[in-house]
Amino acid sequence: MYWSNTYISTLRDDPQEAEIPSHKLMLRAGLIRRLSGGLYTYMPMGLRALRKVESIVREEMDRAGGIEVLMPAMQPREIWETSGRADILEGVMFQITDRQDRAMVLGPTHEEVITDLISREINTYRQLPRTFYQIQTKFRDEIRPRFGLMRAKEFIMKDAYSFDVSWDAADASYQAMYDAYVRIFERCGLNARAVEADTGAMGGNCSHEFMVLTDAGEDAIVECASCEYAANTERAERRIPSRSTSHSEALEPMSTVSTPNQRTIEDVSTFLDIPAERMIKTLIFNADGKPVAALVPGDRDVCEQKLAQLVGAKNFEAADEAMVKNATGAPVGFAGPINLDVPLFADRSLEGLCDGITGANQKDLHYCNVSIERDTTIQTFHDIVLVKSGDGCPRCDTGTLSERRGVEVGHVFKLGTKYAEAFGATFLDEGGDLQTLTMGCYGIGISRTLQSAIEQCHDENGIVWPSALAPFQVAILILKNDHEASCEAAASLCEELEAMGIDVIVDDRKERPGVKFKDSDLLGFPVRVVVSERSLAGDEFEVKLRTASDPVMISVAGAANSIKDLLP
Ligand code: ATP
Ligand code: MG
Repeated sequence: MYWSNTYISTLRDDPQEAEIPSHKLMLRAGLIRRLSGGLYTYMPMGLRALRKVESIVREEMDRAGGIEVLMPAMQPREIWETSGRADILEGVMFQITDRQDRAMVLGPTHEEVITDLISREINTYRQLPRTFYQIQTKFRDEIRPRFGLMRAKEFIMKDAYSFDVSWDAADASYQAMYDAYVRIFERCGLNARAVEADTGAMGGNCSHEFMVLTDAGEDAIVECASCEYAANTERAERRIPSRSTSHSEALEPMSTVSTPNQRTIEDVSTFLDIPAERMIKTLIFNADGKPVAALVPGDRDVCEQKLAQLVGAKNFEAADEAMVKNATGAPVGFAGPINLDVPLFADRSLEGLCDGITGANQKDLHYCNVSIERDTTIQTFHDIVLVKSGDGCPRCDTGTLSERRGVEVGHVFKLGTKYAEAFGATFLDEGGDLQTLTMGCYGIGISRTLQSAIEQCHDENGIVWPSALAPFQVAILILKNDHEASCEAAASLCEELEAMGIDVIVDDRKERPGVKFKDSDLLGFPVRVVVSERSLAGDEFEVKLRTASDPVMISVAGAANSIKDLLP
């Protein structure tokens, strides 16, 4: 491919609108252009790289036994009512009506469409197991579209759906997809890590997210330094630390203590000179319009996802001042579990606490010497704390967890029978009995993966493409485009490399060498070959890897083979 035959438009300066390196670089290198918030055009170089991600994904899906289909992006709203998700995804779905006034949505995902399809297609165990996939545009009305392709309103996803005869049989389909994901991200040159993920209402250990670790990530994960354990903080567990005080030494009667204007945990613990972990932090949440109280040690935060799941609430958020006042009878800052008439959810680490301090649901008053078991109605304890760096690993005895940021590029999920039940997707088993299909779903953000590769692989001069994703693997720079011998040498090298299946771009522009070098670095082509009058005089080309600091000279004879060997 010749530079002058395609369209590449690079920018000299960082665009104002971009915050993270990969977004800046995508714009600067001319891979994408913005239409409006969360909507982008893939320019020729961006599109080439995107296609490379797609073909890796397609190859590995096929290898794992996936069968490709393409479903409509536009869907009748009623299938979302059938699954019961219309309300849950109300805010996220773009909704339209057709000329007959039928309600339609632009698909944010395709569980409903595929299950509707399969309920008609599959009817016997002989047709199972099956995994279908597609690569397609999804639409989501994100609250905060940002970071370019990372969180867009319109993006490209590979979504796959498996159908099995039973929960156990679905394990094999899940594992096949999991293994395919490991290969996909490896082939894309990405350092992605599988972490245990929140399973929403499903429970169990049957969902993993693939995270590209980077500070720009919107997700927080923890990983153990000593074992394989890693999890999204939305679901991460921790080892419960042992308590220093024992019942016998501290079981004094509960009493009140005056705490004038001491509202925060910090205020009270300083005022009373006690460690924050002895405080029973009591937070009121609004669960589908009703108050619930969460109790955690004073030095900890509540993990809202865990609590929402425990409570079984669809809409879950911190209660506002009015709800707190109404529920506790006191201003914010003095809530406590004693005589509090709302459902109480206490963290496991509070079990056995017998010298606690907590709000008395009265302004300027706290209780001390609180024994959770003796003085409150709490009978059971749950895991509702947000895990953080320094916590003990829940899987091994010695490990410590540390926190990392990550971008979710893929998600594998054992769904069970929820959708199949809703759509009556059944099959006849070997004994002739009617059974419900067990499903799994598996997503990869194709466009997000592309940008994540740049987020992970760049330097101060530009993109450093993993070879597999580079729009072109080799860039041949003709230093002076009016030097005939240079043009001829470049043309024949290009031809030879292309015959070897290598993607080559020849920079034939009438530009200063400096501009060509800069653009080549910015666009991140893995190998740069410079053809100049001087090098040709010595029967040589100058070759430099994008990752190397210095070029090497290779002889013109056999140059294509030498370059092929050099390719990362
Ligand atoms: P997130 O938590 O980041 O919003 P999600 O969990 O809602 O993502 P899934 O429904 O699991 O996303 O979608 C599968 C994949 O699609 C994700 O792993 C991610 O790579 C990609 N993806 C999701 N939302 C977006 C978006 N707005 N822009 C680009 N890619 C996205
Ligand atoms: Mg997800």
